[in-house]
Amino acid sequence: MPGSPRGGAGHGLSPVDRRMLLVCSFVLAAALGQMNFTGDQVLRVLAKNEKELSLLRDLEGLKPQKVDFWRGPARPSLPVDMRVPFSELRDIKAYLESHGLAYSIMIKDIQVLLDEEREAMAKSRRLERSASSFSYSSYHTLEEIYTWIDSFVTEHSNIVSKIQIGHSFENRSILVLKFSTGGSQRPAIWIDTGIHSREWITHATGIWTARKIVNKYGKDRIVTDVLNAMDIFMEIVSNPDGFAFTHSMNRLWRKNKSSRPGIFCIGVDLNRNWNSGFGGNGSNDNPCSETYHGPSPQSEPEVAAVVNFITSHGNIKALISIHSYSQMLMYPYGHSLEPVSNQEELMPVGSLSTGLMTAASSTPSALSSVTLGTMASCCRPHRSSPQPRRHGWPFGPSWSTR
Ligand SMILES: [Zn+2]
Repeated sequence: MPGSPRGGAGHGLSPVDRRMLLVCSFVLAAALGQMNFTGDQVLRVLAKNEKELSLLRDLEGLKPQKVDFWRGPARPSLPVDMRVPFSELRDIKAYLESHGLAYSIMIKDIQVLLDEEREAMAKSRRLERSASSFSYSSYHTLEEIYTWIDSFVTEHSNIVSKIQIGHSFENRSILVLKFSTGGSQRPAIWIDTGIHSREWITHATGIWTARKIVNKYGKDRIVTDVLNAMDIFMEIVSNPDGFAFTHSMNRLWRKNKSSRPGIFCIGVDLNRNWNSGFGGNGSNDNPCSETYHGPSPQSEPEVAAVVNFITSHGNIKALISIHSYSQMLMYPYGHSLEPVSNQEELMPVGSLSTGLMTAASSTPSALSSVTLGTMASCCRPHRSSPQPRRHGWPFGPSWSTR
């Protein structure tokens, strides 16, 4: 769908109707204490060359904190997706048009999708309460997830335990599930979800995977073999403060909630805070940026807790970080285009994985060289380009991000 300057929210409504719509939405949001995104759109831009990419990169400087890149400018073959607030739509579209940048409107009104999501959650919660059950196919709050963790551990105490590895900036517990069939300091796999708090589908994926592991142990050969030889650690809510904030105030919050004297903006992108390529490609030194890397490597308690745990364990063999948005499997290093030393090992493993995922989901997955340690920036697909669905809520099923 080609973009047009008239493609904003409330298209087809008179200016008075549109104002009424905005006022009503604002009143409703204020009553619920939540930020409202009525009229905000997600635009998809296809840059033809490096010059057009750099025009898109300039947008972050021209409109600081206004354009939220869901898929940043990486290379000409990959689309760029950005959320633009209603108040900025006219300017941003004029900028794109004046530079001959073709765009389409991928999401016409974000708030419509958010309202649908909230309604679905409320409906699911009513069903859960009446049936005293936990739905593995709907979203949950931090409190609900932590309660689920406790009952899950109690129910499967022969194989699962709970470890507290630290506290968040706002002093919430940082919890890890340990799946183990015995032994000490066995080789282990680390899996984390939700480091970017708005990527709710990743928390749900972690919970679903945890249940799958306990249900398949002793029945499925691969799960059984893995757990007989290795432990699995799962950090389901890797950014508890940010996650709580996505429920209470701002559904689209990505960073943690740390604050520092003299700095107006809150939060660090935890996935840019690792001590690997710190401050490099794909991160930002502006505290107001969505990809702010923080004042120093591992400055954030949520990152330091993971680093301390993995370092002191000493026998972690694989680290998998689950994100949502584009369909990609990434391997080290995102901040550099140089091949890693074990590229020849990672490439076939990655190819096999993307092939299996594509076969299982019928959604093509791309393979990229990006760091497992930092997951900083992007993207050098070796196979097909990612092809996410064009409609629907991107932080929901079948989308994924970094
Ligand atoms: Zn992410």
